[in-house]
Amino acid sequence: MTDLTKLKISEARDALRKGDVTSVELTEACLAAIDKADALGAFVHKTPEVAMGQAKSADDRIKAGGAPDLCGIPLGIKDLFCTKGVPSQAASAILNGFKPEYESTVTSQLFGAGAVMLGKLNMDEFAMGSSNETSTYGNAINPWRRGNDATALTPGGSSGGSASAVAADLCLAATGTDTGGSIRQPAAFTGITGIKPTYGRCSRWGIVAFASSLDQAGPMTKDVRDAAIMLEAMCGHDPKDSTSADLAVPNFEAMLTGDIRGKTIGIPREYRMDGMPDEIEALWADGRKMLEDAGAVIKDISLPHTKYALPAYYVIAPAEASSNLARYDGVRYGHRAKLAQGDGITEMYEKTRAEGFGKEVQRRVMVGTYVLSAGFYDAYYNRARKVRTLIKKDFEDVFAEGVDAILTPATPSSAFELGKEVTDPVEMYLNDVFTVTVNLAGLPGISVPTGLDSQGLPLGLQLIGRPWEEGDLLNTAYALEQAAGFVAKPTQWW
Ligand code: GLN
Repeated sequence: MTDLTKLKISEARDALRKGDVTSVELTEACLAAIDKADALGAFVHKTPEVAMGQAKSADDRIKAGGAPDLCGIPLGIKDLFCTKGVPSQAASAILNGFKPEYESTVTSQLFGAGAVMLGKLNMDEFAMGSSNETSTYGNAINPWRRGNDATALTPGGSSGGSASAVAADLCLAATGTDTGGSIRQPAAFTGITGIKPTYGRCSRWGIVAFASSLDQAGPMTKDVRDAAIMLEAMCGHDPKDSTSADLAVPNFEAMLTGDIRGKTIGIPREYRMDGMPDEIEALWADGRKMLEDAGAVIKDISLPHTKYALPAYYVIAPAEASSNLARYDGVRYGHRAKLAQGDGITEMYEKTRAEGFGKEVQRRVMVGTYVLSAGFYDAYYNRARKVRTLIKKDFEDVFAEGVDAILTPATPSSAFELGKEVTDPVEMYLNDVFTVTVNLAGLPGISVPTGLDSQGLPLGLQLIGRPWEEGDLLNTAYALEQAAGFVAKPTQWW
């Protein structure tokens, strides 16, 4: 077989079972592609020995029969996941040299199912960002370009390395995490599929915490079927995460019938933003038509508190981050600053944190500490929590009126140039305008590539589902994917 790295999970699964390919061959092909793709900055720690060991065991397991779907499938793992004995730095200098003694629940489920780890993937530091430019490892680069223009574009963030690696066929799929859009926005910027499940579907245990009430892991894949297969392996109840839901995990792939006749799809009027590019408007209208043609009932809906979502998110997320990141003190993990004669413990903390955290992380810690401080707690943090409740209620109201899923753009633009927005944090935060509501409400959301803009860059649409109904959401996404027929790939330049 040729072009092994281009295979989807579903295709590789079937080929492995037929004996047309082995996991060792698949893994070698991916490792070779990764070695040629350093210019993309996607893989930041390569683990060829781990991968080859896992691939050999996977081949034995497949031969023995009855192996799980993911057995032998080579994956990339976002650096936010703790992987035993392998650097896991959340793309931060403060975790330089940190190799966990434990395996995150999600990765241990994936590896338990026989998946192969090719290495760790680039991301924004502590998952804070929308362009992968806050990483201590340097930028991840989007494999897509504007026609023949060689300007480097962002793959989005924070799961920029995951998106770049999947879009460039360096791995069959990758893990991502999403606190405010970090799976869906990079997926949209790179023409791949990404789903953030309902809060509580995937265990957070062993994933470096950013904002614990918002963080969720999810798959980033080449299509919706692969997202269904991989999500099933990633999620499930975990007693080690008290917010993990004790609910049965359905066979998501079996729910992909493509039949959405009679489903009600809501189109929220508040997501029509001033200054939104015409191409995004047109894409959204096309998506609406595709779902309608597939037999869905389209309903205009209102989610009146949408305009408060970004401000509420940028209070709540930094508040939780400032508390979560207090543990990086130069004592327990990774980096410790060199001290001068006479320095005490306070200087040790201060110097370590000043050296170890990048600018964006420091900004968030300061904002978070401020909004949680005694004099401002009610004015900011408590107020943001109330707004969050109202945003959640907006969704509950439309679901109660019979809406099955909500269609919105995934991002307000296509992939932008590196360096363009990094100077203005607020401009960067605006990238999350369509995605943060979903995290605040704890709902599942998926980004599906649906078209190219006039510069030849991919654009995605987002579908938001009812809580715990990822199967139904994936099926609606599948119908959209079938209708959109997006098959474009970036031209290889790396
Ligand atoms: N871009 C958002 C932020 O910077 C979301 C990040 C994420 O989902 N991890 O907070």
